[in-house]
Formats: sequence, structure tokens, C-alpha cells
Amino acid sequence: MNSQPAAATSDTGREPGLQLSCGYGTDRGLRRELNEDSFIASDPVFAVADGMGGHEAGEIASGICVRTLAGMPQLATGERTATAAVVQQYLVSADERIRTATGSRAGTTLSGVVVVEQIGVPYWLVMNIGDSRTYRLSQGEFVQVSVDHSEVQELVDAGEITKEQAAVHPRRHVVTRALGTGDETEADYWLLPVEEGDRIMVCSDGLNAELTDDHMFRILSTVGHPQDAVDALIQAALRSGGRDNVTVIVVDARNVMNDAGTDTAPRPAVEDEDTLPRTEVRDSAAVDTEELPEVPGSAQPADAPDPADQASAGDAPDAVNENEDRHDGLK
Ligand code: MN
Repeated sequence: MNSQPAAATSDTGREPGLQLSCGYGTDRGLRRELNEDSFIASDPVFAVADGMGGHEAGEIASGICVRTLAGMPQLATGERTATAAVVQQYLVSADERIRTATGSRAGTTLSGVVVVEQIGVPYWLVMNIGDSRTYRLSQGEFVQVSVDHSEVQELVDAGEITKEQAAVHPRRHVVTRALGTGDETEADYWLLPVEEGDRIMVCSDGLNAELTDDHMFRILSTVGHPQDAVDALIQAALRSGGRDNVTVIVVDARNVMNDAGTDTAPRPAVEDEDTLPRTEVRDSAAVDTEELPEVPGSAQPADAPDPADQASAGDAPDAVNENEDRHDGLK
């Protein structure tokens, strides 16, 4: 089933201070039967989970992961009060729920950001377990922030192969840490100050396995609107082969202020829309209605709201997507 969200980008409507806008999308790709990726794009949590296990177990694992994160109270309040310790509690919970639901047969990666504030200063709390990735384009520099938990990354770290060799290595898909399976379930965290104009990109390996960093950088640095950037990245991955499910989130930060209420970057003298009074308008929320099988031990409600009811729900998550194509394939 292919469907296009009514509006795939949303401004968070917060004021004053930091304004986030995001785009997101996922595609089954051209070779895989199922889409086992899931994602959540709902201020302050933007993350991608790539399920592993096959025969629908992978999509159960990634779905449980994003639904567990969707239970963070910060999503309901919009507060940026989370910490790495809080996020870690939710990941421990996700790990337990996946093990209960799948008998440790399935696992999932998770990578992304939670926007947090410390003494009035906003930070990207980057989290990662497995080989999905979080990149940051900041002040013209494009950097992979997360470090993969994979066999080839270990070989790169040991100096045995180069990053270029890792990209074509036969064991490049072997993940060394995941939620829901195996002994290694600890996530890594990084805390980076949000700079004016920052662009965060979170993706599953179906993107970065098809495109070079340089190709991703060219798209991210030339396509203005975050949703257009997401669409362009997914289309590029499909054109390169689309061998895996591909999921992308792009988050832009504007109007970054410090605790003294001063912008971190010069503002144009002319009035722009940021200086005008803002109405509490949120673009229609896209919430996937496809239900996953009932998960034993999961505290998440199984009934998903009707998207028609969600269209004007101001406090609904922007997107909690479990394994649903958001694109119409190769264009
Ligand atoms: Mn994948």
C-alpha cells in the first residue's frame, strides 16, 4: 500500500525561540518484500528504527521501538526536558518488550535525535544503537555524528580496512549491537549544541548503503525544504538500486536562541515570518493506521487513531510510522 501523508512537514508552533521543521519518508525499496523500518518524527523526538529478523519479526521489533519512544511524556507536553538517562530508560523498556514479543528472534537498530534544553540552551541529544545513522549539516560541514555498531566499523577502527572498503565489504550488514536481541544493547549518546541553520538527517542503512556521503551532502546542501530534501534522497537511493528499505528524516533548526534571548546568528533586518505573531497552527499530523499484530507485554495501545480525526489534532504526534511506505516508489 502506498499513501502520501496529507502534509509531511510540520512546524512545531513553539514560540518564541527554537523553531524546528521536519520532513520524513520511508520506502520499501525495489527488492524487499516488506518494509521493516519504522520511524518517529514528533517534536522533540526524531528517530529511525531498522528492524531485523525477517518474516515480519523485524517490523514488529522496529514498531515496538518507536511506539515505546512515543510514550515519552515530552511528546505530549512538547517540553525539552529529556536527558540521556531518561531516553535510556525507554530504550531498556523497548529492548524488554521486543524480547517478550519475539523471543529475542528479532531486533532493531535505533538512531536519531531528541531535542533537549539545558539552562535554556537547546542541544541535539544524538542516540545510536546499530547501523542506522544520524548526520549533521552545520555551518556548511556535513558530519556523521553516530558511529555504527557493525563488524566493518570495528575493522575500520582497528585500521584493517578503509571506510571505502567497508562500504563494499561482504559483511557490511552485520550489526554488533541492537535492541531486542543479543547481549549488547547499550546505546551511545552525544550532546551537541543546536546552531542556527543546523540540519539533522537521520536515515536507515538503505540510504547510506546506496549513496555516498558526498551525494547526500550535495542534496542536503542544495534542497531547501526539508520534505523536498527527504524526497530527493529517497528517490536517489531508489535510482541507485533501492536494495533495502529506506527511511529518512530531515530536521531544520531556526531561530536558535540562548538563555539571554539572543540569536546565535545575525538576523535579517527586514521583518520575516518569525517576527510576526504566530498562530498555533500545526500541519496535519500523519499517523499510520496500519495495526501491528498485538504485542504481548506491550503497554502501547493497539488501536491507532483515524487519520481523518488526526488532521487537525494539535497535540498529536507528527508522525509515528510503522512499516508503511510513504512514497509511490521510483519516480
Ligand atoms: Mn536496513
